[in-house]
Amino acid sequence: MDKTSVTIASAVNTLSDVAALRRQLDAIERNEKNNISGNISLENIKKQCDVLQKETVAKLSATTQQQIEAQDHLHFVVKRTKEINELIKSLNDAESVDVCFLMDCTNSMQKYIQEVKDRIFETVKLLKSRFSFFNIRLAFVGYRDFNLTPDKQFSILDFTDEKEFYSFVSTVKCEYGGDVCEDVLGGLQKTIGLSWKQTVRILIHVSDCPSHGRRYHNLPEDQDFYLSHDADGSIGTNCIQQLVELRVRYFFGRLTNLTDKMIQQFAKSTSDKTAIQQFHLEKFQNLLPFIFDSVTRSISKKTSSIMKTYAVNSENPLNTESLAKNSVRRSIVFDGKEPTWTRIQPKQVQVVKYECNSDLNCEEMMQSKNIKIADSPFAEGALRLAYYGLLQYKDIWGKVVFKEYKGVTGGDNTKEMYLEMLDCQTVADYLAQEFNKVSPATNSTAMIKKIKFIMTKLVFVPQGNEGKFRYYTMERFIEGAYKKFSNNIGYVNHQDPALTLQAFSHWTYERTNGEMIVVDLQGIDIGDHQTYLLTDPCIHATDLKRFGRTNLGKAGIKRFFQTHVCNIICQTFKLKRNEHQPDRASSKCDSHICEKPNSSMATEASKK
Ligand SMILES: [Zn+2]
Ligand SMILES: [Zn+2]
Repeated sequence: MDKTSVTIASAVNTLSDVAALRRQLDAIERNEKNNISGNISLENIKKQCDVLQKETVAKLSATTQQQIEAQDHLHFVVKRTKEINELIKSLNDAESVDVCFLMDCTNSMQKYIQEVKDRIFETVKLLKSRFSFFNIRLAFVGYRDFNLTPDKQFSILDFTDEKEFYSFVSTVKCEYGGDVCEDVLGGLQKTIGLSWKQTVRILIHVSDCPSHGRRYHNLPEDQDFYLSHDADGSIGTNCIQQLVELRVRYFFGRLTNLTDKMIQQFAKSTSDKTAIQQFHLEKFQNLLPFIFDSVTRSISKKTSSIMKTYAVNSENPLNTESLAKNSVRRSIVFDGKEPTWTRIQPKQVQVVKYECNSDLNCEEMMQSKNIKIADSPFAEGALRLAYYGLLQYKDIWGKVVFKEYKGVTGGDNTKEMYLEMLDCQTVADYLAQEFNKVSPATNSTAMIKKIKFIMTKLVFVPQGNEGKFRYYTMERFIEGAYKKFSNNIGYVNHQDPALTLQAFSHWTYERTNGEMIVVDLQGIDIGDHQTYLLTDPCIHATDLKRFGRTNLGKAGIKRFFQTHVCNIICQTFKLKRNEHQPDRASSKCDSHICEKPNSSMATEASKK
């Protein structure tokens, strides 16, 4: 056999036409000796063989390439699915809650204890309707004063279910406390001794009187029989520090100003500014909203910290400690003021913009633009820094915001991360534009607002002369009150239930035949124009390779529906009920908590 046929034979196997050619070639070769004119034909066939050989090798290597890609894809999907499953598990665990009631059981407190008992089932039911994996254990520590015999000083029930809790609290009696002050510190020590276990731990303390001891109040001497109690503050400090160590969140329901000095002292015991939070209860009817709010805040705080860690750290998504240690951050100096623009040199930069087609795939468009960018950022979110900037359009410089990922290590700040954001925002806006045009399926008086996503572009700012770039996203600067309406793990802002936005998410699921859902809706409610101007959405898609780490795939879609109650606008569009949605019956009780207590707690803006 000659060289050609050997090479062909080794390259082919799969292509029958090459094999056929080879057989022809062999036959002609055999005839060659007999037929001298066959040489011409042989040359032709050899040429054809050469061409085919090249094609075959190309095809074979393409196949190998495809195989490698398919393997990579499979590997990626397996890894990401595993990460998502672990994430969902810890999110579900964050709905496991221990709540301990620490209550002053003297004098006028009986009606508060009565209220806890009377409304505990209702509260738990309400919380269960809000969280799909809600699981609660309840404990009770009632404290009184030193004037009583030791067996009457405390009423203690360690963590248990709501039925046992109810029976126990029914038996708790208030006693006369002697003076104004009570044994608050004794009560705190008892709560530390309880069997705290669940992921989220909450202490709800309700009292109208301070602890004994000069440092805890400004009362006249005759109203505290134990004025020298905890004179150096070590007992109080120790209690608060132990609670912080136990990861217990302390919510104090304030009834009078008598307790203010005590709470201030407690707050000084720890550097954790959020360790103690105070509510102005004012009347016992506010107790249920207070409990409800404390629990929902604590769960939200836990889940957003889990999400933040997941979004930042690709190696070990659920370990908050490693986040701080391993993620390299540049040291940042902020400047809240807009710069004097005349002092800043314009830069010519390449700008990437995405355009979405009806198959929801995006195409990249390159433009050259002139920009100015502030030297220092003016604000930061969990993942990104924001800079003031200007963009030149014809002769006008318009205000824009540049955003940059904080990470400086390779995996924390890649071009892909920016492109994933563009992809996400562009697809979300494409769907919003379609949604705005859809006519309701039924006659309805429901007010359907328009939805728009702020257009985001990717900017390459050259760094030095080595062809290196720094990446930023660029979007129009918009002034207004920024609100979070939903997140990507099923949170719904019940204080501002934006019905159109909830329905929009549901609609995107139907529009994409269940392949995507647009969530994490936040931005500005332009009331006058009946429009929501939104930014930074997330998309859960069955294709896990798109839209970055916050795409939680089918698990994310499921999580949306687990907390989604179809509203009047969903009904207007005749959106289909999803199997994961809660029962309507158990989810209508939100109206109970409309009356909110006056809260002195800072609202935690969920920033990204
Ligand atoms: Zn006392
Ligand atoms: Zn719906």
